[in-house]
Amino acid sequence: MDRNPAVTRQTANMRWVLKHTFKKNDFRPLQREVISSVIEGHDVFLQACTSFGKSLCYQLPAVLKDWGLTVVVCPLLSLMTDQVNTLKALGVAVATINSNTTHDERQRVFEDMLCGHPSTRLLYVTPELCQTDNFRRRLLIVHKQGQLIRVAIDEAHCISEWGHDFRPAYKELGWFRRNLVDPTVPITALTATATPRVRSDMINILGLDLENLRLFNTPSDRPNIHYEVRYLADFAGDSDSAEDSQLQNLLRWLKGIRTRREARLGSRVTLLPPMSGIVYVGTRAMAEHLASRLSSDEMVMAVAYHAGVEATKRAHIQSTWKSSRPVQPADGERTPVFSIIVATNAFGMGIDNPDVRFVVHWTPPRSFESFVQESGRAGRDGRAAASLVYYGIQERNFIETMIYRDTESHRANGPENREAKLESFGKVIRYCESIRRCRHELIKEFFGDFELEEMGSQLPAREAVSVTSSSPCDFACDFCKEGRAGLAKRREKMASETQMALLYADFD
Ligand SMILES: [Zn+2]
Repeated sequence: MDRNPAVTRQTANMRWVLKHTFKKNDFRPLQREVISSVIEGHDVFLQACTSFGKSLCYQLPAVLKDWGLTVVVCPLLSLMTDQVNTLKALGVAVATINSNTTHDERQRVFEDMLCGHPSTRLLYVTPELCQTDNFRRRLLIVHKQGQLIRVAIDEAHCISEWGHDFRPAYKELGWFRRNLVDPTVPITALTATATPRVRSDMINILGLDLENLRLFNTPSDRPNIHYEVRYLADFAGDSDSAEDSQLQNLLRWLKGIRTRREARLGSRVTLLPPMSGIVYVGTRAMAEHLASRLSSDEMVMAVAYHAGVEATKRAHIQSTWKSSRPVQPADGERTPVFSIIVATNAFGMGIDNPDVRFVVHWTPPRSFESFVQESGRAGRDGRAAASLVYYGIQERNFIETMIYRDTESHRANGPENREAKLESFGKVIRYCESIRRCRHELIKEFFGDFELEEMGSQLPAREAVSVTSSSPCDFACDFCKEGRAGLAKRREKMASETQMALLYADFD
């Protein structure tokens, strides 16, 4: 219990705002600590999984004070609109300036901003707007009037050319620290995924003050996810047989889940809604094709989901998939056990279905960041879930060639971009081909979790407890379950002896 009256009062105020404005009963683990640091005026770096509730960490402090403006930089219009609408519905004085803002609305926002005591608490803007002299000039005035209390930078990894979403305008955000001085305006930087290189770009380019910086993170791996890699045999160019074999493998795996579920639940199983899963594929055509092949199995109900599917149909697919009702089968048909979305990477942003039980990568993901984000869509409810990656040499070579080709046609992004993409895919390769490390540990290593710890980053209390079992992940990965010999045996069928010797020299 904190006896400091000022701290106690602040905690009480935070709780009050959480309950009355944000309609939430309690903070999630670590949220309170992050918010306190933001309120105390520290620069804050937060790297946390999507379900953490990162936005509350700058929204609550902005509302807690009954004066002052918080500027929020946000890269995506959809994300911005979403947040602004949610805040409006909660009665928060929020505004936005983006490409959809009308001239009149823009004038109104600027007028309020410059009036000396703005009523707007949170102003959402694009990084491009922050580059304009016009906006910068206005921001300097608000600062001079003592009304600019904080800058929050969402998706801050977009600042780095080593990240997977590099956005040139983000690079100019260093302007805030260089110009908003006397007094310095604190900066909060937030991201879901950042490798050590991206993280150091974020800190350096934004000019975060290391003396005054507070770091927080949630572990990059997810303790409740069982990570597994499945090795594909070499069918020497016979793609039909390769596909058949892979499909049979996936169906066998699903069948195993069904059997265990039935054994556990007995007759009650028919009353349950189907289990939700996502299968990621490389192309739209493959999404359609695989969805129809999977659906021909009686236990599976599968639909394709990609950018080519019409928006209303997409919305319908999402809501059906998310609804937790048992499916009523037509006469004579069996109830499907699995409800699967076969998706390209268009499926994801803003999707929040907490009870996805498995995410399968039909082909290896192109970047390690997307792997962690996509597999992390499983088990957001904290219950057991699985991540399965299918991996083969042909696919590996194909993706590498594609990365070369794509970066060739987008020369504007520069050679670093290719190097960054290859580096990230290199981590996917290492993750998949390694047979002597726990996969949870590998994920943490690739995202520099251990380094963050050394930098003094604070973790959620629950996660900081060390696992006492003999396996680092408590047997929640194929390495910890099968051991090195078991994995080596499975990996063998993927390539010839000679190829193997060349391929795995680095990983064994
Ligand atoms: Zn493990």
